[in-house]
Amino acid sequence: MNVVRKFLDGFRWKGVEVLDYKPAGTHFRSISRQVLFDGPGELDAQLRYFAIEPGGHSTLERHTHTHAVMILNGRGRGLVENRVYDLAPFDLVSVPPGCWHQFRAAPDAPLGFLCLVSTCRDRPQRPTPSQLAQLRENPELAAFIRT
Ligand code: MN
Repeated sequence: MNVVRKFLDGFRWKGVEVLDYKPAGTHFRSISRQVLFDGPGELDAQLRYFAIEPGGHSTLERHTHTHAVMILNGRGRGLVENRVYDLAPFDLVSVPPGCWHQFRAAPDAPLGFLCLVSTCRDRPQRPTPSQLAQLRENPELAAFIRT
């Protein structure tokens, strides 16, 4: 285990592989994942870095585990529960259990963020058509959501 992972240009860390965000799907776009910390037992958590390219987005999803997200790079917006927030470096976003969430990079800027999660966590759920229709009753959410 590396005690120090050196930060490199382009929001990379030395010795850390750039992975797919998720195995496959069309419900996200232009997003990658780096696992910076993987709890060895005493701290059952993972710290990941997600990089969304300009115009890209994460999956609209919810789950019973919590996220602590810190923006590190670029600019974008995030949907949490029933609001959309402007996001910039060093903003801290808490995603409570059971809340719908999605992150989008600005059209002309990337969005990079750290995301802390428990190692033991449930699988994300995507909205059913009726849940999606309910979310879209809010015009702000309707304009933001990408599926
Ligand atoms: Mn999530």
